[in-house]
Amino acid sequence: MNKKFNVPRGTSDILPKEVFTWEYVEKEARQLLRNYGYNEIRTPIFEKSELFVRSVGQTSDIVQKQMLNLSFQGFVEKYQFDEIGLDSGDVFKKLIENGWAEKISPTQIRLKSYLFEGKVIGEMKKVFEDDEVLDKILFPQYYTSLSLRPEGTASIVRAYIQNNFDRLERLSKFFYIGPMFRGERPQKGRLRQFHQIGAEAIGPESCSPYLDAEIIALSVAILKALGLSDFNLKLNSLGDEEDKENFSKYLKKELKPVSGNFCSNCQRRYRLNVLRVLDCNNKDCQAIVDGLDIHDAHLSDKSREYFKEVCGALDRLKVSYEIFPKLVRGLDYYTHTVFEISAPSLGSQDALGAGGRYSNLVSQLGGPDVDAVGFALGIERILLAMPKGDVEAGKLNVFIIALDEKSFLKAFALLHQLRDADVSGDMSYRISSMKSQMRLANKKGAGHVIILGEAEMQKGEVTIKNMESGDQAVESINNIKTIKNIILNQ
Ligand code: AMP
Repeated sequence: MNKKFNVPRGTSDILPKEVFTWEYVEKEARQLLRNYGYNEIRTPIFEKSELFVRSVGQTSDIVQKQMLNLSFQGFVEKYQFDEIGLDSGDVFKKLIENGWAEKISPTQIRLKSYLFEGKVIGEMKKVFEDDEVLDKILFPQYYTSLSLRPEGTASIVRAYIQNNFDRLERLSKFFYIGPMFRGERPQKGRLRQFHQIGAEAIGPESCSPYLDAEIIALSVAILKALGLSDFNLKLNSLGDEEDKENFSKYLKKELKPVSGNFCSNCQRRYRLNVLRVLDCNNKDCQAIVDGLDIHDAHLSDKSREYFKEVCGALDRLKVSYEIFPKLVRGLDYYTHTVFEISAPSLGSQDALGAGGRYSNLVSQLGGPDVDAVGFALGIERILLAMPKGDVEAGKLNVFIIALDEKSFLKAFALLHQLRDADVSGDMSYRISSMKSQMRLANKKGAGHVIILGEAEMQKGEVTIKNMESGDQAVESINNIKTIKNIILNQ
């Protein structure tokens, strides 16, 4: 027997009966996003990997472990240095001069990400003073390859810059709905291909606490419109880059005596991006973090004032939230406001969505010095948390029943005339008994059936039956307008 294929792990088919619910979610979300003045943008599903490395952050879990890379191994090996604009001769000469050639082969340099973690990196840094050159050697795959998008913000900021939106308008408001990809270990609510609804407000006039509040209120409004009520909104402010730096310093100091007790992931996080330790799901790490006295001491007066205004605006909009000083978010680009919405009913993967402000990302990616704020909601998680009512499946207006070969051609032509007149309809392409075709019409949820048999053919008429009331009407087969009227209105 020939081999059967299944979907790759962590992905799933969205079957026709489920698509109605998806369409409903997307329709409600689109409507609200447009009501709030956001316009849809569609960016490619893959981008240069470097875009994600530079935005989401080198030390983030996404870049470290989850990027689905499209590099062609042979190509990367052969051309890695040419592609990234480095002279391979120079690179190796430097390595040889510094005694690295014996220690490590070029292939190891490319493959061993442990270099990035260990002390080796410090020594490498002495050889290559420029961090970017070092990155290119250690992570050539990110500089030469493409990756499936793990999230939406980076692509939208790239599109904002590439299309010079800052010259067109003072504030650009985008939304997107589409698939994202992360090489995670699949489990309930955690997939390798999942879908997000997201919005971003970017531009010279995007730095307003009212816009933070709008973004948060909008994500809450979408969830409510979809019938969700049992969720919590956690809110925090990281402050600006300097405040974040202070926060990191404080954590480094406080956590130093206990850093040896962290999980291996957090040992690395402690060294490279200590804020992320607050994000860890490991119980021991959480217990350590719970013992810390974390409040808003790292915030400057200006940042504190900004956050107060965000909270005030949310109060005005009657959006309930809880200030959660340990909330940091897993992506590097956030500054100031960060938020997360979770549904306790979802168990361990309880995050419905999240977002925040990112003041420096646009300029970091080569764009103008403008602020931005946004959110992303996970559609699969929303579907898990949504009340389990039936979303009305798409119903056919009419099902045409041809009772013999002769009627079939007429029925087939009539079906197409009706479809052209905006009536949804279908028929069976195999002639069978009236009873079995009626069963099919019922299964498809047809509102009406049109019956065409020998008697109807002789008179040039059709019988139209309302499937709910059983009422029947007879009409001339050529009178499409009246037939349509009966089907749609009676
Ligand atoms: P993040 O970009 O990680 O903040 O994700 C935003 C939202 O997308 C999360 O709150 C989840 O609802 C959803 N999400 C993120 N990763 C996954 C995944 N692997 N599988 C399903 N949903 C996800």
